[in-house]
Amino acid sequence: MTNPLHDALIAPLAGQDRVLIHRPGRSAVTAAQFHQCVLASAGALRGLGVQPGDRVAIQVEKSTDALALIFGAVAAGAVFVPLNPAYTADEVAYFLGDSGARLLVADPVRSDELAPVAAAAGARLETLGADGQGTLPRAAAAPATDAVPRASGDLAALLYTSGTTGRSKGAMLTHDNLLSNAETLAQAWRFGPGDVLLHALPIFHTHGLFVATNTVLISGGSMIVLPRFDVGAVLDALPRATVMMGVPTFYTRLLADARLTRDAVAHMRLFTSGSAPLLAETHDAFAARTGHMILERYGMTETNMSTSNPYDGARRAGTVGPPLPGVEVAITDPDTGAPLPDGATGMIEVRGRNVFAGYWKMPDKTAAELRESGFFITGDLGLVDADGYLHIVGRAKDLIISGGFNVYPREVEALLDEAEAVAESAVIGVPHPDFGEAVLAVIVPAPGTTPDPAALAGLLAGRIARYKAPKGFEIVDALPRNAMGKVQKAALRARYAHSFTSGETA
Ligand code: AMP
Repeated sequence: MTNPLHDALIAPLAGQDRVLIHRPGRSAVTAAQFHQCVLASAGALRGLGVQPGDRVAIQVEKSTDALALIFGAVAAGAVFVPLNPAYTADEVAYFLGDSGARLLVADPVRSDELAPVAAAAGARLETLGADGQGTLPRAAAAPATDAVPRASGDLAALLYTSGTTGRSKGAMLTHDNLLSNAETLAQAWRFGPGDVLLHALPIFHTHGLFVATNTVLISGGSMIVLPRFDVGAVLDALPRATVMMGVPTFYTRLLADARLTRDAVAHMRLFTSGSAPLLAETHDAFAARTGHMILERYGMTETNMSTSNPYDGARRAGTVGPPLPGVEVAITDPDTGAPLPDGATGMIEVRGRNVFAGYWKMPDKTAAELRESGFFITGDLGLVDADGYLHIVGRAKDLIISGGFNVYPREVEALLDEAEAVAESAVIGVPHPDFGEAVLAVIVPAPGTTPDPAALAGLLAGRIARYKAPKGFEIVDALPRNAMGKVQKAALRARYAHSFTSGETA
């Protein structure tokens, strides 16, 4: 028996003295060194009593050692649980309790704060810092000589969804889920040994962890690992890279910097975007400035990547492209689940080897969202156009029902964003005494402008049905976003909950 992820991503690195990880300002790491680091981590975990199938929670800063620990957990046959370093002790307590982790690896500076949390959850605490300090490296007994055997249906990772409402759910991802998606993306995006990925994404989320890292590893490429997105550092590194994967805010921040020029990206062959909608305006501005059409793709923690604009062929702004090879997309009636024809807006469902095995210890949630047929009900609303491209209209939970009519926020946002005085917008539904919910537009002004609500209302008049038009406008400096650049609509709904009601009645 073998260990599918380890065999495909890590084992081939043995003995290769090429650079795998460039670290600006620090020494580079060769493929052979990284391979050794992974086996040392696996040895340390096994020395600490981690058994195959045990959960290992990892809440550390992004570093080469952190990546080696993640793959060390895979080699040890464990299930790694990456946690955002920003999570508080209370949040960590929930994830440890829910996952039943045997071990928590945390940043050394938080060791005093997290020790009682780990103890209460019955987990052992070890530490690992961004510079390799901490107790875990010292625990390294003998490096593992080989990876622990695993089957392709065994779990490799448990990723808690970044849900902004309700309890965060642990998405169970198997070796086969991750491996098949890495293979698919490497092919679809033409990755090869000559590629150098500029990696500025966090490694506790599917995008930076699997889409970025696994795709590079499976194709024999290398990466420039930056601790976080910093415009200056990214612009410095771009001339040595061939690919960058980003969230939309990476692109808006780059565009705001005059140093982003055609010359600065002369060496690049591909820019991709995902995790949140890329404004068509950003796509167009980037193309005008650099000559590159950003390739937008769509995925989520539970499904890995499902659709992508084509590498060769039209990359259409405002769409996330056709399904990736081996992935089926269906649009269904959100109430009945019946299939809808092309062009109709409905629930996006996804099936394929990319789709997760269910929610950890939540059989009811799993049954409600993962059909026996294998289709996963994503919670995203969208439509497939005549050319087979998927358009995302919004999250089902963000759908506004005003006076009995459905309003898809994205449609209204797209029109508002066309206005010169609008940098970006978020359209939400808030309680209203007559309509049940009223449409409210939250607007970030374009630099140097002051949007006039009456003018914005005039712009929409005649272009969308009256029931879709915002009944109120709020002007703000910035929209609240999470680490992946997603607008936190739940926070906006809470903030403006009483815009049309007195508050006492809510
Ligand atoms: P997460 O599980 O944190 O990766 O979040 C997944 C969600 O992000 C999806 O269900 C979508 O709502 C959203 N998302 C991901 N990629 C895109 C995209 N290209 N355009 C719009 N929304 C996206």
